[in-house]
Amino acid sequence: MIPKAITGLQCHQCNWMVPADPFHYTCPKCGKNLDFIYDYELIGSSWSKLDLEQDPDRSSWRYLPLLPVKNAPEDTSIVVGGTPLVNLPKIAKAHGIAILQIKDDTRNPSGSLKDRATELCIQHAREQGKKTIVAASTGNAGSSLAALSAYHGVQSIIFAPASAPPAKLTQIRQHGAKLVPVDANYDTAFDLAFDWAKKHDHYSRNTGVNPILAEGKKTVALEIAEQRNWQAPDHVFIPVGDGCIISGVFKGFFDLVALGWIDHLPRLHAVQADGSAAIVDSLIRGGEISPVKANTVADSISVDQPRDGDKARRAILESGGLGFRISDQQILAAQQNLSASTGIFAEPAAATAYAGFLQASSQGIFQAGDQVVVLITGTGLKDIPNAQKNLVDIEPVTADMLSVEHYLGSD
Ligand SMILES: *Cc1c(COP(=O)(O)O)cnc(C)c1O
Ligand SMILES: [Zn+2]
Repeated sequence: MIPKAITGLQCHQCNWMVPADPFHYTCPKCGKNLDFIYDYELIGSSWSKLDLEQDPDRSSWRYLPLLPVKNAPEDTSIVVGGTPLVNLPKIAKAHGIAILQIKDDTRNPSGSLKDRATELCIQHAREQGKKTIVAASTGNAGSSLAALSAYHGVQSIIFAPASAPPAKLTQIRQHGAKLVPVDANYDTAFDLAFDWAKKHDHYSRNTGVNPILAEGKKTVALEIAEQRNWQAPDHVFIPVGDGCIISGVFKGFFDLVALGWIDHLPRLHAVQADGSAAIVDSLIRGGEISPVKANTVADSISVDQPRDGDKARRAILESGGLGFRISDQQILAAQQNLSASTGIFAEPAAATAYAGFLQASSQGIFQAGDQVVVLITGTGLKDIPNAQKNLVDIEPVTADMLSVEHYLGSD
C-alpha cells in the first residue's frame, strides 16, 4: 500500500510529472526541484489518527504512510523526531497572545532538525541500493549524516567549509565520516559535493536538489499538529537559509490539510539573518531571488544562493506568511533571552526564529487569541564561541567565603 500512495514527483517550475521510480533528484526537463505527490484518498482510507494514537513508536517513523520509502529501518530506537513542544504561558501572556510554544528540535540525536531529513535519506539510499552518501553542509547536515550513518552502518562523505564551527567539524570526524573541509564557502562546497556524488554514483544528500529531504523535515510539522491535538497553530516562525526546512514544514501541514486532519495552514514566517537574506529580500522587493554575499554569525543559515528558494517563497506566500530580517546583534540577544527565559539553548541560526517572533510581536502582528509556534532547529552547545560573545568575561574566584561574598555581592 505505501509505495502506491506516491503518484510521482512534480516539477515545481514546469509542473512536469516524473515517476518515482527510477528516482530523479531534479526535473529531467528543466532541472528544477521536484515535489513528491501523494494519493491522499488512498492514504486516508487505510490510516487514521486513531492508528497514530495506538502507535508506540515516538520517532518520525510513526508517519511512514506519508513518507516516500517502502519501509522503516529495522531499528528506530535512536529516535529521530519525537521532540517536545514546550509551552511558555508567561511569555505568551507578556506578548498578549493565547499560546506560545517552542518546538525543541535541539533534542535530536545529533542536536539539530537535520536528523529528520538524514534519517529518511539513509533509508531511501538503501532502497536505491546506494552504500555511500555524500553531502554538502554548513555543519549540521554533515554532523547529522555522520551520526546517523554510524548508527545505520553506511558510509558518508561530507564537504563543509573549513570555517564551520569546530564542534560541528569535530562531530563529523568523531562519528567516523570522511570530512572534506573545503577552503571555501558553503555554496562552493555544495557544487563540489554534488559533482563528486554524480561522478562516483554515490547518493546525494544535498539540500534542495534532493526532494527526500523536505519530506523528512516535514515530520516536524506533522508532530506539531499531532502534539496540538490536530489544531493547526496560527503562526510558525522558521529560521531560513536554503529554504528546505520551511518548504518541508509547508509540505507537512499541506499533507494534513489534504487528509482533512487539520482545517487550515498556519502562516509560515521566514526569518533570515540580515547578512544572508536572499529569500526575504525577494519578498520585500518582489520578483526573483538574487544571490547575496552571505555574512552572519548564524552559520547554519549563511547561504549565498538558496537551493530551495522558490519552494520557500511558495511556502511563505501560500500560507500568508511574512519575511523578517534580523541583525547579528539581535540574533545573539535573542539567543541569550531564549536561554535565560526558557531553558532552551539554541544555536544562533535557531535563535533567529525566536528573534523573528520578538520582532513580529513588537510590530503588532499578533491578535489576542493567536497561537504561535517557534521552531528551534539546533543546539547552542555546538557553538560556544558565538554564545560567549554576549557574556562578559569572568575571573576565577579565590576559594574562600569572603571572596565569594564579595563576588556575589551579598551583604
Ligand atoms: C539547516 C539549518 C537551518 C536552515 O534550514 P534551511 O533548510 O537551509 O533553510 C536553520 N537552523 C539550523 C540549526 C540548521 O541546521
Ligand atoms: Zn521542470
